[in-house]
Amino acid sequence: SSTVVWFRRDLRVTDHPALLEAAGRADRALGLFVLDPRLLEASGQPRVEFLHRCLRTLDEKLGGRLMIAVGDPVDVVPRVARSVGAESVHVSADFGPYGRERDEAVGEKVELVRVGSPYAVAPGRVLKNDGTPYRVFTPFSRAWREHGWRAPANTNKSTVDWMTPEKTERLPEGDGLPDVTRLWRTFRDERLPDYADHRDRPDLDRTSRFSAFLKWGVVHPRTLLADLGSDEGSKAFRNELAWREFYADVLWHNPSSARENLDKRFDRIHLDDDRERFAAWCEGRTGYPFVDAGMRQLLAEGWMHNRVRMVVASFLVKDLHLPWWWGARHFMRHLVDGDLASNQHNWQWAAGSGTDAAPYFRIFNPVTQGEKFDPDGTYVRRYVPELRDVKGKQVHRPTDPIVDHAHERQEALARFGAIK
Ligand code: FAD
Repeated sequence: SSTVVWFRRDLRVTDHPALLEAAGRADRALGLFVLDPRLLEASGQPRVEFLHRCLRTLDEKLGGRLMIAVGDPVDVVPRVARSVGAESVHVSADFGPYGRERDEAVGEKVELVRVGSPYAVAPGRVLKNDGTPYRVFTPFSRAWREHGWRAPANTNKSTVDWMTPEKTERLPEGDGLPDVTRLWRTFRDERLPDYADHRDRPDLDRTSRFSAFLKWGVVHPRTLLADLGSDEGSKAFRNELAWREFYADVLWHNPSSARENLDKRFDRIHLDDDRERFAAWCEGRTGYPFVDAGMRQLLAEGWMHNRVRMVVASFLVKDLHLPWWWGARHFMRHLVDGDLASNQHNWQWAAGSGTDAAPYFRIFNPVTQGEKFDPDGTYVRRYVPELRDVKGKQVHRPTDPIVDHAHERQEALARFGAIK
């Protein structure tokens, strides 16, 4: 008998429960990935290129037998299943708003067997005693740890006999991924011990940079969690993974929060719509060096350090008074790790409209944030070439700023005061 393994956000073959399930059910499987134009449209070039790298590596792991198809999965998946005589299609469950709808539609045409998810604990599982979802991170993370997760799935035990597809789309020539296991071990051994102290320092750049791998499921968070201990670095890292799980949970319970304020009071806040200021922010020309360095890092690398993401997001919302979703869209277009749940909810956190939001009156000062987290100015000099000759923390002084922070801070407080 044959089956189809439809890969989506689980582009790996180790610690993959859906793969085990497929291997247990059928003799042979066709590995399929569908390039969905609707999803590709929302992704910028860096993310699409990263996806191609993931797919090249997955294809290699399947012995060159990954089938890539283009089109609406609701049509493509059942058609491919029929063409190989498969009775079922195996997937890791998707919990995002678009994925859930898509899977329901596919499931009406072919048996869709969902096993596992991109999370250690599937969204919706961690609930308060009264059965309602958590809206605050710290109690969620405690309950999440207490809930616990499965040990990594030993996929080596039953290997899948992959079928050769009759036809497949060809990806552009290019590289695959580096060895993710090796990258993880290097991080674990060399950087995790100091992670708690260093994770907020963009100049040191000591975070794992695993976000894009996690986004595409090249590695499952469970695999990483199983490798963590009880030291401070491990605790801090586990806590970051918990944020990822928390935001997926919040989005699952509130699908419309991908587009709308979670806190409805914010629907009434007065916002500006100055496109020129927005363009200056996007291009890293605000005159605030720490902000500009972050925005230029995003354009250059498709990634930005978390501390700087928080500062640039705050700047867009509280110094420029622009809608958070403008910033979120720009991020989604340029980030290689762009992920709806993490992105929209970190943005809502910055805007004050989300769950567990930063109190609105706590407004990041882009200059002192730079001085604190990039004390020698190394990070700014790395991304803002015109400031390369400015020594030390002097580099954080604004040059021709597009707005005055002290003034805009008062303005933000007044606008918030009006809706409170
Ligand atoms: P590490 O410090 O090594 O953290 C390990 C992992 O924990 C990360 O890979 C990520 O999966 C998770 N994590 C860490 N911080 C957070 C967080 N605040 N929220 C959710 N998960 C977290 N992360 C994304 O993966 N995709 C996004 O689209 C995204 N958009 C963001 C937008 C804004 C405005 C902000 C403030 C943060 C955003 N983040 C997003 C969260 C965070 O900035 C990145 O996950 C992190 O910088 C990735 O780098 P790293 O893998 O080296 O992180």
